[in-house]
Order: sequence, then structure tokens, then C-alpha cells
Amino acid sequence: KDEVNIIQGALELRSKTVEDVMTPIADCFMIDIKSTLDFQTMREIMSTGYTRIPVFDVERTNITSILFVKDLAFVDPDDCMPLRTVCKFYQHPLNFVFNDITLDKLLDEFKTGTFHMAIVHRVNNEGPGDPYYEVIGIITMEDVIEEIIKSE
Ligand code: ATP
Ligand code: ATP
Repeated sequence: KDEVNIIQGALELRSKTVEDVMTPIADCFMIDIKSTLDFQTMREIMSTGYTRIPVFDVERTNITSILFVKDLAFVDPDDCMPLRTVCKFYQHPLNFVFNDITLDKLLDEFKTGTFHMAIVHRVNNEGPGDPYYEVIGIITMEDVIEEIIKSE
């Protein structure tokens, strides 16, 4: 029964973590801050169908902005505007969550917050150096809902 599955899914949020359901960085469609918003680049962004595009500087784990596709509404591809200009103008806040929090906690944050995408990071204390925060993925409200409604 669908209802039973949904309740089951909701209960399981407590035993699943962000890392279990996130989209890993390697699978993210992202864009380089050094890009120019010419016709080709804008077409590529539109064709992905994603609403939110992480923007990285030099390395894909170094996300410095989020571009919303709707930010492009007033961008004329003939102007070849630098992406950096658009990012500076909107400055959408970046929201980070840890890899090991459970999905019920994440859902609470999405419900109270004003954001529906978060960047997933973890504490990396492997290796000889100091521990550091390492970005490993992105997660959206959709990923949590998917866990609730998916039927086995
Ligand atoms: P650079 O030398 O500029 O750092 P790179 O070729 O070493 O680039 P990235 O482009 O940073 O590698 O990509 C890192 C990983 O992400 C690779 O596995 C690549 O296949 C994958 N990747 C790159 N672009 C995309 C994308 N738009 N969507 C999904 N995966 C991507
Ligand atoms: P919306 O539905 O709010 O328009 P969307 O379709 O862009 O947004 P979501 O519905 O939030 O994206 O997410 C759908 C799936 O795509 C989720 O698994 C999410 O992690 C993933 N996702 C979202 N944005 C990206 C992106 N830029 N690159 C790769 N995967 C993404």
C-alpha cells in the first residue's frame, strides 16, 4: 500500500544520512566562475534542466556561488557577460550541511530555512595535515522527498 510505504519512508529518514542520498560532486553539473555567459554556455546551462547550478573557482570542490537559472533572465548572450558579474550581483547564500546528519534533521532545516539546496561537506582528518572541511556533494529537498515516497 502507498500509505504504508510513505510512513515507512518517513520513519527511515532517521536512519539515513545526507551522504547516503546526496548527489556526489563528480555527478554535479557545475560551472566555472571564469565562464562567460555567451550563447553556447547559456544553452548548455538551460539544456541541463537544473534550477540551481553550483559555481566553482579553480577546483570543483571549491564552490563559491550558486547560480539560479532564473538569474539568467536578464542576461543577453550577445553581451558575453562574465558569470562572476552575475554571481556578485545576486550573491545567493551558500548553505552547508554535514555528511553525517540524518535526513529528518535535514528536512527540519529545509522546512525552517529559505533554501532547498545545500552543499554537503565532511571533516577530512585523513593524512598528515590538519583536518579540513571537504566538499563532497549537493543535496536538495527533492532528494529527501524521494526517500519518503519511494516504494519498495
Ligand atoms: P580542470 O583541469 O579544469 O580542473 P578536470 O578535467 O581535471 O578539470 P573537472 O572538470 O574538474 O576535471 O571534473 C572533475 C570530475 O567531474 C571529472 O570526473 C569529470 O568527468 C566530472 N565532470 C566534469 N564536468 C562535469 C559536469 N558538468 N557534470 C558532471 N560531471 C562533470
Ligand atoms: P526544481 O525541481 O526545484 O526545479 P531541479 O530540478 O533543478 O530543481 P531538484 O528537483 O532539486 O533539482 O533535484 C533533483 C535531483 O537533481 C536531486 O537528486 C538533486 O540532488 C539533483 N541536482 C540538483 N541540482 C543539480 C546539479 N546542478 N547537478 C547535478 N544534480 C543536481
